[in-house]
Amino acid sequence: MFNHDLENVYNLNEDAVIAAIEKYFTEDEDACRCGVCIEDVFALSLNNMPAKYIQNYFGARDPERLVDTVQIERSVREAIEQVGKHPHHE
Ligand SMILES: [Zn+2]
Repeated sequence: MFNHDLENVYNLNEDAVIAAIEKYFTEDEDACRCGVCIEDVFALSLNNMPAKYIQNYFGARDPERLVDTVQIERSVREAIEQVGKHPHHE
């Protein structure tokens, strides 16, 4: 096994998805905000689009340019709807 931790490599879409979830949760008072549903929406949103992995020290100067906001917002809206219809919470 190599001796290097990979914490500097991350999916740029994660922060953008969190921001979009906060935005749509603010607009949608009916959406369940329990931990299970929030995790489901987060995972589903990220799975529904190509990942955007970068190394922390390269290319992060202009992250907005690398993230497709329209695709992210659509993906999050769809995920909230889907999780609302088929929640995994008790
Ligand atoms: Zn829930």
